Amino acid sequence: MSRIISIAGAAGDRDEAVAREVEKLKRRVIWSERAGGDSWRQISFLYRAADRFGSRVFGHSFCRGEIGDKGCSTGSCCRCRPDVFAYEQKVLDLLPKRQGASGYCPFFNLVRKNCGIYGVRPFGCRIYFNLASSAYYCCNPNDTTLQLFDNLKPHLERILGAYQGGYGG
Ligand code: SF4
Ligand code: SF4
Repeated sequence: MSRIISIAGAAGDRDEAVAREVEKLKRRVIWSERAGGDSWRQISFLYRAADRFGSRVFGHSFCRGEIGDKGCSTGSCCRCRPDVFAYEQKVLDLLPKRQGASGYCPFFNLVRKNCGIYGVRPFGCRIYFNLASSAYYCCNPNDTTLQLFDNLKPHLERILGAYQGGYGG
């Protein structure tokens, strides 16, 4: 698992708020086929659900204190290969990407320290926030995090195709 949401360390009100959003996201993903028979509509629904989740949990996250006008000060969560499903892999294969051994995702903008493909970034990237209080969880998801992604995975596969692991293109 290279990149997924971390909900470790959340406590009290924040813990409850995040847990509510996690459950809402699960329900939306499970119900995504209700968006209609058209696969494009379903994909759009999934991404909107992920972005909605992100907008709700951002304020509870460690990221809130790190991200300024120019993006995150470290971008260390993008020091990875982003998790992708078959549909997403095909999309990313079409995009220009950086070669080399920076250790960062090939789509990470090393100058601006932000995602170079923000509008089409994969589902896993859209729901990734560090919701703990330590930078350690920027790139070290805990068991709860892994469980969340595992729970979503079979539902995402119905629409996005088979899980491919970390993007290696
Ligand atoms: S998870 Fe960490 S590295 Fe990634 S945007 Fe948030 S604060 Fe920055
Ligand atoms: S696709 Fe964008 S958000 Fe996802 S890991 Fe790469 S640079 Fe980061």
